[in-house]
Amino acid sequence: MVTPKGLGRLRRGHPWVYRSDLGRHEGLEAGLIALVDGKGKGLGTALFSPHSEIRARWLAPPSASVDAAWWTAAVRAAAERRAGIADTGYRVAHAEGDGLPSLVVDRYGDIAVAQLLSAGLESVRGQVVDAIRAVLAPRGLLLRNDAAVRQLERLPRETTLSFGDVPERVPYTEGALTLDAAPWKGQKTGAYLDQRENHEVVGRLARGRCLDVFCYHGGFALQMLKGGAREVVALDSSTEALLVAEESARRNRLKGLVPVEANAFDWLREAAAGRERYDVVVLDPPAFAKDRRSVEGALAGYKELNIRALRLLARGGHLFTASCSYHVHRGDFFGMLTDAAADSGRRIQIVEIRGASPDHPEMITCPETGYLKAALLRAID
Ligand code: SAH
Repeated sequence: MVTPKGLGRLRRGHPWVYRSDLGRHEGLEAGLIALVDGKGKGLGTALFSPHSEIRARWLAPPSASVDAAWWTAAVRAAAERRAGIADTGYRVAHAEGDGLPSLVVDRYGDIAVAQLLSAGLESVRGQVVDAIRAVLAPRGLLLRNDAAVRQLERLPRETTLSFGDVPERVPYTEGALTLDAAPWKGQKTGAYLDQRENHEVVGRLARGRCLDVFCYHGGFALQMLKGGAREVVALDSSTEALLVAEESARRNRLKGLVPVEANAFDWLREAAAGRERYDVVVLDPPAFAKDRRSVEGALAGYKELNIRALRLLARGGHLFTASCSYHVHRGDFFGMLTDAAADSGRRIQIVEIRGASPDHPEMITCPETGYLKAALLRAID
Protein backbone atom coordinates (compact mmCIF):
# COMPACT_ATOMS: atom_id res chain seq x y z
CA MET A 1 0.00 0.00 0.00
CA VAL A 2 1.40 3.36 -1.04
CA THR A 3 0.82 6.33 1.29
CA PRO A 4 -0.79 9.52 -0.05
CA LYS A 5 2.66 11.15 -0.15
CA GLY A 6 4.10 8.26 -2.15
CA LEU A 7 1.05 8.31 -4.41
CA GLY A 8 1.61 11.99 -5.09
CA ARG A 9 5.15 11.28 -6.25
CA LEU A 10 4.05 8.40 -8.50
CA ARG A 11 1.30 10.56 -10.01
CA ARG A 12 3.93 13.21 -10.77
CA GLY A 13 5.73 10.61 -12.86
CA HIS A 14 8.55 9.72 -10.48
CA PRO A 15 8.98 5.92 -10.29
CA TRP A 16 10.44 5.62 -6.77
CA VAL A 17 8.49 4.66 -3.62
CA TYR A 18 10.56 5.21 -0.48
CA ARG A 19 10.52 2.96 2.60
CA SER A 20 8.37 5.39 4.59
CA ASP A 21 5.87 5.71 1.72
CA LEU A 22 5.08 2.03 1.56
CA GLY A 23 2.67 0.47 4.11
CA ARG A 24 3.46 -2.74 6.00
CA HIS A 25 5.78 -4.94 3.99
CA GLU A 26 7.88 -6.82 6.55
CA GLY A 27 9.09 -10.19 5.35
CA LEU A 28 8.44 -9.47 1.70
CA GLU A 29 11.22 -10.75 -0.54
CA ALA A 30 12.91 -8.99 -3.44
CA GLY A 31 10.91 -9.29 -6.64
CA LEU A 32 7.91 -7.93 -8.46
CA ILE A 33 5.04 -6.51 -6.40
CA ALA A 34 1.63 -5.07 -7.21
CA LEU A 35 1.29 -1.56 -5.77
CA VAL A 36 -2.10 -0.44 -4.46
CA ASP A 37 -3.40 2.82 -3.02
CA GLY A 38 -5.17 3.24 0.36
CA LYS A 39 -8.47 1.99 -1.12
CA GLY A 40 -6.89 -1.11 -2.64
CA LYS A 41 -6.95 0.25 -6.19
CA GLY A 42 -4.14 -1.15 -8.35
CA LEU A 43 -1.33 1.25 -9.30
CA GLY A 44 0.78 -1.17 -11.29
CA THR A 45 3.77 -3.46 -10.98
CA ALA A 46 7.02 -2.45 -9.30
CA LEU A 47 10.42 -3.90 -8.49
CA PHE A 48 10.65 -4.40 -4.73
CA SER A 49 13.92 -4.06 -2.78
CA PRO A 50 13.66 -5.17 0.87
CA HIS A 51 16.73 -3.26 2.13
CA SER A 52 17.08 -0.11 0.05
CA GLU A 53 15.60 3.25 1.08
CA ILE A 54 14.10 3.14 -2.42
CA ARG A 55 11.78 0.23 -1.64
CA ALA A 56 9.91 0.05 -4.92
CA ARG A 57 10.50 1.20 -8.49
CA TRP A 58 7.39 1.48 -10.67
CA LEU A 59 7.59 -0.51 -13.89
CA ALA A 60 4.23 -0.89 -15.60
CA PRO A 61 0.49 -0.12 -15.26
CA PRO A 62 -1.94 -2.70 -13.83
CA SER A 63 -3.03 -3.70 -17.34
CA ALA A 64 0.46 -5.06 -18.21
CA SER A 65 1.80 -8.38 -17.05
CA VAL A 66 5.51 -8.07 -16.45
CA ASP A 67 6.88 -11.34 -17.85
CA ALA A 68 9.68 -12.42 -20.19
CA ALA A 69 7.85 -10.94 -23.19
CA TRP A 70 7.43 -7.61 -21.35
CA TRP A 71 11.17 -7.34 -20.66
CA THR A 72 12.02 -8.15 -24.25
CA ALA A 73 9.55 -5.54 -25.53
CA ALA A 74 10.85 -2.90 -23.10
CA VAL A 75 14.52 -3.50 -23.99
CA ARG A 76 13.59 -3.56 -27.69
CA ALA A 77 11.73 -0.25 -27.40
CA ALA A 78 14.78 1.32 -25.75
CA ALA A 79 17.09 -0.08 -28.45
CA GLU A 80 14.79 1.23 -31.19
CA ARG A 81 14.96 4.73 -29.72
CA ARG A 82 18.71 4.61 -30.58
CA ALA A 83 18.07 3.66 -34.20
CA GLY A 84 19.77 6.70 -35.75
CA ILE A 85 23.08 6.36 -33.88
CA ALA A 86 25.98 5.76 -36.25
CA ASP A 87 28.57 5.09 -33.52
CA THR A 88 28.95 1.46 -32.39
CA GLY A 89 29.46 2.36 -28.72
CA TYR A 90 26.38 3.75 -27.01
CA ARG A 91 23.94 3.25 -24.15
CA VAL A 92 21.01 1.01 -25.10
CA ALA A 93 19.08 1.36 -21.83
CA HIS A 94 19.47 4.25 -19.38
CA ALA A 95 17.62 2.83 -16.39
CA GLU A 96 14.82 5.11 -15.07
CA GLY A 97 15.50 7.41 -18.06
CA ASP A 98 14.20 4.63 -20.34
CA GLY A 99 11.44 3.26 -18.10
CA LEU A 100 13.74 0.39 -17.11
CA PRO A 101 14.52 1.26 -13.49
CA SER A 102 17.95 0.21 -12.22
CA LEU A 103 18.92 -1.42 -15.55
CA VAL A 104 21.84 -0.08 -17.56
CA VAL A 105 22.79 -1.70 -20.87
CA ASP A 106 25.71 -0.43 -22.94
CA ARG A 107 26.82 -1.69 -26.30
CA TYR A 108 30.41 -1.72 -27.58
CA GLY A 109 30.49 -3.19 -31.08
CA ASP A 110 29.18 -6.74 -30.78
CA ILE A 111 29.59 -6.86 -26.99
CA ALA A 112 27.01 -5.84 -24.37
CA VAL A 113 27.69 -4.78 -20.80
CA ALA A 114 24.82 -4.53 -18.31
CA GLN A 115 24.38 -3.39 -14.72
CA LEU A 116 21.54 -4.68 -12.56
CA LEU A 117 21.40 -2.13 -9.78
CA SER A 118 18.52 -3.20 -7.54
CA ALA A 119 17.51 -6.32 -5.62
CA GLY A 120 14.15 -6.33 -7.39
CA LEU A 121 15.81 -6.38 -10.78
CA GLU A 122 18.32 -8.99 -9.67
CA SER A 123 15.41 -11.31 -8.87
CA VAL A 124 14.39 -11.33 -12.54
CA ARG A 125 17.95 -11.50 -13.88
CA GLY A 126 17.20 -14.48 -16.14
CA GLN A 127 14.43 -12.66 -17.99
CA VAL A 128 16.51 -9.51 -18.30
CA VAL A 129 19.50 -11.41 -19.70
CA ASP A 130 17.23 -13.25 -22.15
CA ALA A 131 15.75 -9.92 -23.26
CA ILE A 132 19.20 -8.43 -23.92
CA ARG A 133 20.18 -11.55 -25.84
CA ALA A 134 17.00 -11.48 -27.91
CA VAL A 135 17.24 -7.79 -28.80
CA LEU A 136 20.99 -7.22 -29.28
CA ALA A 137 22.23 -10.76 -30.00
CA PRO A 138 25.68 -9.83 -28.65
CA ARG A 139 28.76 -12.04 -28.94
CA GLY A 140 29.04 -11.79 -25.18
CA LEU A 141 27.29 -10.15 -22.22
CA LEU A 142 29.26 -8.95 -19.21
CA LEU A 143 27.48 -8.02 -15.96
CA ARG A 144 29.37 -5.14 -14.34
CA ASN A 145 27.53 -5.55 -11.08
CA ASP A 146 30.38 -4.06 -9.06
CA ALA A 147 28.83 -0.59 -8.71
CA ALA A 148 28.82 0.81 -5.16
CA VAL A 149 25.03 1.40 -5.17
CA ARG A 150 24.53 -2.36 -5.05
CA GLN A 151 25.64 -2.20 -1.41
CA LEU A 152 22.54 -0.17 -0.55
CA GLU A 153 20.54 -3.10 -1.92
CA ARG A 154 22.64 -5.62 0.06
CA LEU A 155 23.69 -7.20 -3.21
CA PRO A 156 27.22 -8.52 -3.83
CA ARG A 157 29.58 -6.36 -5.88
CA GLU A 158 30.85 -8.58 -8.67
CA THR A 159 31.78 -8.69 -12.34
CA THR A 160 30.55 -11.84 -14.08
CA LEU A 161 30.37 -13.13 -17.61
CA SER A 162 26.72 -13.87 -18.33
CA PHE A 163 27.30 -15.63 -21.64
CA GLY A 164 29.59 -15.74 -24.68
CA ASP A 165 32.95 -14.07 -24.85
CA VAL A 166 33.99 -10.59 -23.68
CA PRO A 167 37.66 -9.60 -24.18
CA GLU A 168 39.66 -7.18 -21.99
CA ARG A 169 39.52 -4.49 -24.68
CA VAL A 170 36.67 -3.93 -27.08
CA PRO A 171 36.97 -1.48 -29.99
CA TYR A 172 34.01 0.71 -30.92
CA THR A 173 33.56 3.68 -33.18
CA GLU A 174 32.91 7.25 -32.16
CA GLY A 175 32.62 9.54 -35.14
CA ALA A 176 35.73 9.07 -37.27
CA LEU A 177 37.70 7.35 -34.49
CA THR A 178 38.01 3.82 -33.19
CA LEU A 179 38.25 3.86 -29.40
CA ASP A 180 38.72 1.12 -26.84
CA ALA A 181 36.41 0.15 -24.00
CA ALA A 182 37.76 -1.82 -21.05
CA PRO A 183 34.57 -3.65 -20.00
CA TRP A 184 36.09 -5.86 -17.28
CA LYS A 185 38.24 -3.41 -15.39
CA GLY A 186 37.56 0.06 -16.79
CA GLN A 187 35.40 2.70 -15.15
CA LYS A 188 31.59 2.52 -15.45
CA THR A 189 30.92 -0.19 -18.05
CA GLY A 190 34.31 0.40 -19.69
CA ALA A 191 34.06 3.90 -21.18
CA TYR A 192 32.33 7.27 -20.72
CA LEU A 193 29.64 7.03 -23.35
CA ASP A 194 27.76 9.95 -21.81
CA GLN A 195 30.36 12.35 -23.30
CA ARG A 196 30.17 10.73 -26.75
CA GLU A 197 28.72 13.70 -28.62
CA ASN A 198 30.56 16.24 -26.50
CA HIS A 199 33.87 14.64 -27.53
CA GLU A 200 33.02 15.43 -31.15
CA VAL A 201 31.65 18.93 -30.47
CA VAL A 202 34.90 19.84 -28.73
CA GLY A 203 36.93 18.08 -31.43
CA ARG A 204 35.45 20.36 -34.08
CA LEU A 205 36.69 23.46 -32.21
CA ALA A 206 40.20 22.27 -31.70
CA ARG A 207 43.27 24.04 -32.97
CA GLY A 208 46.77 24.81 -31.71
CA ARG A 209 47.58 23.55 -28.22
CA CYS A 210 44.82 21.96 -26.18
CA LEU A 211 44.45 20.46 -22.74
CA ASP A 212 42.22 17.55 -21.62
CA VAL A 213 42.04 17.40 -17.81
CA PHE A 214 40.60 14.16 -16.34
CA CYS A 215 41.03 12.57 -19.76
CA TYR A 216 40.49 8.84 -18.91
CA HIS A 217 40.87 7.03 -22.29
CA GLY A 218 41.31 10.39 -24.02
CA GLY A 219 37.89 10.71 -25.66
CA PHE A 220 38.20 14.51 -25.81
CA ALA A 221 41.95 14.56 -26.48
CA LEU A 222 41.75 12.18 -29.43
CA GLN A 223 38.81 13.98 -31.04
CA MET A 224 40.73 17.26 -30.63
CA LEU A 225 43.75 15.78 -32.44
CA LYS A 226 41.45 14.47 -35.15
CA GLY A 227 39.79 17.88 -35.38
CA GLY A 228 43.06 19.72 -35.99
CA ALA A 229 44.85 20.38 -32.70
CA ARG A 230 48.63 20.36 -33.06
CA GLU A 231 49.20 19.04 -29.57
CA VAL A 232 46.96 17.89 -26.74
CA VAL A 233 48.16 17.51 -23.17
CA ALA A 234 46.03 14.69 -21.72
CA LEU A 235 46.05 14.50 -17.95
CA ASP A 236 44.76 11.80 -15.63
CA SER A 237 45.85 10.19 -12.36
CA SER A 238 45.36 6.68 -13.78
CA THR A 239 48.35 5.06 -15.52
CA GLU A 240 46.11 2.41 -17.05
CA ALA A 241 43.72 4.98 -18.53
CA LEU A 242 46.61 6.93 -20.11
CA LEU A 243 48.01 3.74 -21.64
CA VAL A 244 44.68 3.07 -23.36
CA ALA A 245 44.63 6.69 -24.62
CA GLU A 246 48.13 6.27 -26.10
CA GLU A 247 47.20 2.99 -27.77
CA SER A 248 44.11 4.60 -29.29
CA ALA A 249 46.20 7.51 -30.59
CA ARG A 250 48.48 5.01 -32.35
CA ARG A 251 45.60 2.99 -33.75
CA ASN A 252 44.00 6.12 -35.19
CA ARG A 253 47.38 7.45 -36.45
CA LEU A 254 47.06 10.62 -34.41
CA LYS A 255 50.21 12.52 -33.49
CA GLY A 256 50.63 15.11 -30.76
CA LEU A 257 49.20 13.39 -27.68
CA VAL A 258 51.18 14.32 -24.56
CA PRO A 259 50.05 12.06 -21.70
CA VAL A 260 50.61 13.43 -18.19
CA GLU A 261 50.05 11.35 -15.08
CA ALA A 262 49.32 13.80 -12.29
CA ASN A 263 46.88 15.04 -9.71
CA ALA A 264 44.78 17.56 -11.61
CA PHE A 265 44.47 19.97 -8.67
CA ASP A 266 48.25 20.24 -8.19
CA TRP A 267 49.02 20.33 -11.89
CA LEU A 268 46.47 23.07 -12.62
CA ARG A 269 47.71 25.18 -9.72
CA GLU A 270 51.23 25.13 -11.13
CA ALA A 271 50.12 25.55 -14.73
CA ALA A 272 47.96 28.58 -13.90
CA ALA A 273 51.01 30.22 -12.32
CA GLY A 274 53.13 29.50 -15.42
CA ARG A 275 53.08 31.02 -18.91
CA GLU A 276 51.62 28.26 -21.07
CA ARG A 277 48.14 28.98 -22.48
CA TYR A 278 45.75 26.68 -24.37
CA ASP A 279 43.28 27.15 -27.22
CA VAL A 280 40.85 24.58 -25.79
CA VAL A 281 40.70 23.27 -22.24
CA VAL A 282 38.46 20.39 -21.17
CA LEU A 283 37.59 19.83 -17.53
CA ASP A 284 35.66 16.61 -16.86
CA PRO A 285 36.22 15.68 -13.21
CA PRO A 286 34.76 12.64 -11.43
CA ALA A 287 31.68 13.14 -9.22
CA PHE A 288 32.86 15.16 -6.19
CA ALA A 289 29.49 15.13 -4.39
CA LYS A 290 28.64 11.60 -3.29
CA ASP A 291 25.57 12.75 -1.34
CA ARG A 292 23.52 15.88 -0.70
CA ARG A 293 25.63 16.82 2.36
CA SER A 294 28.84 17.05 0.37
CA VAL A 295 27.48 19.44 -2.27
CA GLU A 296 28.96 22.58 -0.74
CA GLY A 297 32.46 21.14 -0.56
CA ALA A 298 32.10 19.76 -4.07
CA LEU A 299 31.09 23.17 -5.44
CA ALA A 300 34.17 24.73 -3.84
CA GLY A 301 36.32 22.08 -5.55
CA TYR A 302 34.65 22.62 -8.93
CA LYS A 303 35.05 26.38 -8.60
CA GLU A 304 38.75 26.15 -7.86
CA LEU A 305 39.33 23.90 -10.89
CA ASN A 306 37.27 26.11 -13.17
CA ILE A 307 39.02 29.33 -12.13
CA ARG A 308 42.37 27.75 -12.93
CA ALA A 309 41.16 26.31 -16.21
CA LEU A 310 39.75 29.70 -17.30
CA ARG A 311 43.06 31.37 -16.50
CA LEU A 312 44.80 28.88 -18.80
CA LEU A 313 42.79 29.92 -21.86
CA ALA A 314 44.51 31.68 -24.72
CA ARG A 315 42.69 34.72 -26.15
CA GLY A 316 39.50 33.50 -27.80
CA GLY A 317 40.07 30.07 -26.25
CA HIS A 318 37.28 27.66 -25.26
CA LEU A 319 36.65 25.82 -22.02
CA PHE A 320 34.41 22.77 -22.07
CA THR A 321 33.50 22.08 -18.46
CA ALA A 322 31.29 19.39 -16.92
CA SER A 323 29.97 18.00 -13.65
CA CYS A 324 28.57 14.49 -13.35
CA SER A 325 27.53 14.69 -9.66
CA TYR A 326 23.78 14.35 -9.67
CA HIS A 327 23.53 15.96 -6.25
CA VAL A 328 24.91 19.12 -7.88
CA HIS A 329 21.86 20.44 -9.69
CA ARG A 330 21.92 22.51 -12.87
CA GLY A 331 21.37 25.75 -10.97
CA ASP A 332 24.24 24.97 -8.57
CA PHE A 333 26.55 24.17 -11.48
CA PHE A 334 25.84 27.33 -13.46
CA GLY A 335 26.00 29.44 -10.26
CA MET A 336 29.43 27.97 -9.56
CA LEU A 337 30.56 28.73 -13.14
CA THR A 338 29.36 32.32 -12.84
CA ASP A 339 31.39 32.75 -9.64
CA ALA A 340 34.44 31.09 -11.20
CA ALA A 341 34.23 33.34 -14.27
CA ALA A 342 33.91 36.44 -12.07
CA ASP A 343 36.92 35.44 -9.96
CA SER A 344 39.05 34.35 -12.92
CA GLY A 345 39.67 37.88 -14.14
CA ARG A 346 38.59 36.83 -17.65
CA ARG A 347 35.56 37.89 -19.72
CA ILE A 348 33.63 34.73 -20.40
CA GLN A 349 30.78 33.92 -22.80
CA ILE A 350 28.50 30.90 -22.73
CA VAL A 351 28.73 29.45 -26.23
CA GLU A 352 26.54 26.43 -25.57
CA ILE A 353 24.85 24.67 -22.69
CA ARG A 354 25.16 20.92 -23.02
CA GLY A 355 24.42 17.65 -21.23
CA ALA A 356 24.82 13.94 -21.78
CA SER A 357 24.43 12.40 -25.23
CA PRO A 358 20.82 11.61 -26.18
CA ASP A 359 21.36 7.89 -25.60
CA HIS A 360 21.37 8.88 -21.88
CA PRO A 361 17.88 10.42 -21.88
CA GLU A 362 16.60 12.26 -18.84
CA MET A 363 13.06 11.42 -17.75
CA ILE A 364 11.74 14.91 -17.17
CA THR A 365 9.86 13.83 -14.02
CA CYS A 366 12.89 11.93 -12.62
CA PRO A 367 15.72 14.45 -12.38
CA GLU A 368 18.13 11.81 -11.03
CA THR A 369 18.43 10.49 -14.61
CA GLY A 370 19.96 13.77 -15.85
CA TYR A 371 23.18 13.95 -13.89
CA LEU A 372 25.59 15.39 -16.47
CA LYS A 373 25.72 19.17 -16.79
CA ALA A 374 28.14 20.82 -19.17
CA ALA A 375 28.92 24.16 -20.74
CA LEU A 376 31.08 25.39 -23.56
CA LEU A 377 32.58 28.76 -22.62
CA ARG A 378 34.80 31.20 -24.48
CA ALA A 379 37.21 33.86 -23.25
CA ILE A 380 36.66 37.09 -25.20
CA ASP A 381 39.15 39.42 -23.52
N1 SAH B 1 36.87 12.81 -19.81
C1 SAH B 1 36.73 11.39 -19.76
C2 SAH B 1 36.04 10.90 -18.52
C3 SAH B 1 36.66 11.37 -17.22
S1 SAH B 1 36.19 10.47 -15.82
C4 SAH B 1 35.98 10.94 -21.03
O1 SAH B 1 35.33 11.76 -21.67
O2 SAH B 1 36.04 9.76 -21.35
C5 SAH B 1 37.17 11.15 -14.58
C6 SAH B 1 38.64 10.79 -14.65
O3 SAH B 1 39.30 11.53 -13.63
C7 SAH B 1 39.00 9.34 -14.41
O4 SAH B 1 39.72 8.84 -15.51
C8 SAH B 1 39.90 9.34 -13.15
O5 SAH B 1 41.01 8.45 -13.27
C9 SAH B 1 40.40 10.78 -13.15
N2 SAH B 1 40.76 11.35 -11.85
C10 SAH B 1 40.10 11.25 -10.67
N3 SAH B 1 40.69 12.03 -9.73
C11 SAH B 1 41.74 12.65 -10.33
C12 SAH B 1 42.72 13.60 -9.90
N4 SAH B 1 42.71 14.08 -8.65
N5 SAH B 1 43.62 14.05 -10.80
C13 SAH B 1 43.62 13.57 -12.07
N6 SAH B 1 42.73 12.69 -12.53
C14 SAH B 1 41.79 12.23 -11.68
